[in-house]
Parts: sequence; structure tokens; C-alpha cells
Amino acid sequence: MSDEADILEMKDARYLMHPFTDARANLQGGGMVIDRGEGVFVYDSAGKKYLEAVAGLWSVGLGFSERRLIDAAVRQMEKLPYYHTFTGKSHAPQIELAARLVEMAPVPMSKAFFTNSGSEANDTAIKMIWYRSNALGETKRKKIISRKRGYHGITIASASLTGIPVDHQSFDLPLPGFLHVTAPHYYREGLEGESGDAFSTRLVNEIEALIVAEGPETIAAFFAEPVMGAGGVIVPPQGYWEKLQPVLKKYGIILVADEVICGFGRTGRMFGSQTFDIRPDMMILSKQLSSSYLPISAILMNDMVFEPIADESHAIGAFAHGFTNGGNPTAAAVAIEVLNIMEERDLMTHVSDVSVHFQARLRALGASSTLVGEARGVGLIGALELVMDKATRSSSLEVGQLAKYAFGLLQNKGVIARAMGDTLAFSPPLIITREQVDMIFDGVADVLAQMEQEISSGQFY
Ligand code: PMP
Repeated sequence: MSDEADILEMKDARYLMHPFTDARANLQGGGMVIDRGEGVFVYDSAGKKYLEAVAGLWSVGLGFSERRLIDAAVRQMEKLPYYHTFTGKSHAPQIELAARLVEMAPVPMSKAFFTNSGSEANDTAIKMIWYRSNALGETKRKKIISRKRGYHGITIASASLTGIPVDHQSFDLPLPGFLHVTAPHYYREGLEGESGDAFSTRLVNEIEALIVAEGPETIAAFFAEPVMGAGGVIVPPQGYWEKLQPVLKKYGIILVADEVICGFGRTGRMFGSQTFDIRPDMMILSKQLSSSYLPISAILMNDMVFEPIADESHAIGAFAHGFTNGGNPTAAAVAIEVLNIMEERDLMTHVSDVSVHFQARLRALGASSTLVGEARGVGLIGALELVMDKATRSSSLEVGQLAKYAFGLLQNKGVIARAMGDTLAFSPPLIITREQVDMIFDGVADVLAQMEQEISSGQFY
């Protein structure tokens, strides 16, 4: 390792506290310093090249060196680097982006509201929903349902939506009024002999029973990712969305599609809502919206949501909510350029083509490796759930050990994946080529073969 990299890692350990990291352990060595990016690759400070098979945090859709996004940012910075949209002000990038998003939404939407992160967008959506209930005089309608394993962010309300225990533990979360139902994770939650469709019916019945038990007049909204990302890449089984939506409608419950990962092509269509035939009342967008080059997120809402909010804000004098940098003009200009690039390069056709190969290679590993319990995914998102014993689906080790080990071996080979529990996830930049897909799965195949070999020779434990 170069001296410079050594110094950076020492400074990292000395000065930096990282998100989602063992803070004590980081004092020992510091983080892995990533220095530069090119296409689907990043390079660490020692010059080692990695294929970024998760696109950073599922977000760098256009890869790490898209010149047009840099140029769009520079052009906007030179003209107007910052302005806001509070108290009657506005600016062209935010107006244009709002128009583009509302027009391209897969269901009729009315307005866009801009924030900086997925968490802020979900918090904002919750506040909008509470505000709307008050506007309608339905003051008891405040509870929110989301799913176990769902990930919606880490601010106080969005972390309450999140259904992952470690995101609650020691934070005194979730807040009261946030209810979590079973994840549509057929491999782990399905009963023996139960079809995917029957599993969906059972889960939707569970949701309806909860709504009735809590009192339908107290339930405001249901938040869900079309495909659950950070909870383990969970693709809902057949019938889930189809059966769920009429139940929500029956009780007047707002459906919020958290498209932070799925949005802008990840599942093979522009939005996950299209892939799964979801008709949300609100959509939460971020990540690939700007390819993560700058922070930006958006809430789209239909008239059923917007109109009462507009009435209430008129009565009070303002919708008293917003962020200094929400929809920052430079970030908005970058997002507009992302949409231009996706359209001009017909990126959705590329994703449809390359994802066939991506899913085929992923599933072939599910069939060939004794360590893969389930291979699942859709479009350019996928995961391998690792087990020691396919029949019992058990890892027989501490949960997470298998995937963590595989992740480490794979990273040494120059492929960055993501380990979540015993699931190894992949969500590469949308611009990935067929050959680069092969680089990922050739690497994974080698790693699994090595692990099988170590296990059979008793070296693994
Ligand atoms: N929703 C989903 C579905 C996400 O995956 C994430 C981030 N991984 C968030 C919300 C939160 O976004 P942020 O980290 O920008 O707050």
C-alpha cells in the first residue's frame, strides 16, 4: 500500500465515525479508501480495481464517470449554484424536474416535493399523511403499516418504518404507531407445501386482520418497496401486490411505494411499480434519480393526497415543512440530465437485454452450488441466499458468517458485493455490459467453489 493510503487510513481511524460501521473496530484500521471511479469500476487508494456490483449503495445507475452529469452540474453552478423554493420562490431546474417526474410517473400523479435523501423523503411523506388526516378531520388516522425487513431510512420516523431490528436497537425505536407485518419472503416465511399464491393470500389476510384489530379509522398509510432491497432483495411472490391493493383501498389507506432502490430502471422497467402492477398514491424517489452524483430525493403524490394538504396549508397560511437544500438547483440539473441520458441512450432497452443474462447467471449458481439456498431477483437486482444445508435451509453457523466470508473473498478478487445476513446482493450500475456481468458471476462461482472445497475438507470452521 502506498504511504499516502496508509496515512489516509490512519486519519480515517483517528477522525472519522462511519455510518453502519462498528465504531470501535474502525479505530483499528480505518475504512477501505476508494480513490476514483471509471464506468462500473472503482479503484482503491493502492490502485486496486474493483467491479462495483452494488453501484455504491444501489444508486450509481450511470456508473462512476459520466461526463455529462459533471457538465450539467458545472453549467448550473455557473448560472445559479443555489436557490430555494420556500415562501413563493422558485427556480427552473426544480420546476422542470417536477414536470418530468409527474409526467413520467406510471400512475396519475399531481405534484412533486423535493428533499435530499430517501430518509428525508419518507419522513416528509409521513408528515404529509398526518397533515392530510388532520385536514380531513380524521385526527385518529395516524398509524402506519410497513413490513419487517423493509428499509426506508434512518431518521426517526423513517427508521420507525424500517423493519430491521438492528436499525431500532439502542435507538429507542420504532416510535409508537408504526406497525410491521410479515415480509413477502417466500423462501423463509412460506410454509411447507404452501404455494406462492397461497402464501400471498395468508400475508394479505394478516394485514387485513391487523387493520381490523387496530381499527381501520386509525390506519393512515402502508409503505412498501416494490422489491425489498436492504432487507435481503426480497421479490414478492405471485399475487402479493394484486391481493394487497384492494384491501388497502377498501379501508381508505394510502399506498406509498418506496422506489428509492427500484426507481429509474432497477427492476427492468422505469419504476418497480410498473414491474409489479402497483398503483401507489405516493412515490418516494432518490438514489438513481441523480445516479448519486448529488443528493436529491422526491415525493410524488396524487390529487387525493395533495388536495386536502393544499386546503390545510391555505387555512394555516403555509405547509410549514421543507429543507434548505431540498431540490437544490445543481442536484436538480443533474437529475434532469440523468433522465435525458436514460432516454437518449434507451437505457431501459439495454437493462432489459442485459438483465436476462444477469438473472440467468445468478440462477445458474443457485442450481450448481451446494451453498446457494435460493437465487432470486428481477431486472438488475439479485441475491444469493447462502446456506450450509439446502434441505433444512440452515446455515449451521452464526447467521451472516457465510455471506460475510463470501463477500470478503469476492472483494479480494476485485468484485464488491453486499452481504446482508446470509444473503449476498448484487445491484450493479445499469450501464453494465454482458461481459462485466460475467466478471461478477465468474468471480462468485470461484468463491463458492473455494468455500465448498474448504467446507468439505473441514477447513472452514
Ligand atoms: N428507502 C429505501 C428503499 C432505501 O433503500 C434507502 C437507502 N438504502 C432509503 C429509503 C433511505 O435513503 P437515504 O439513505 O438516502 O436516506
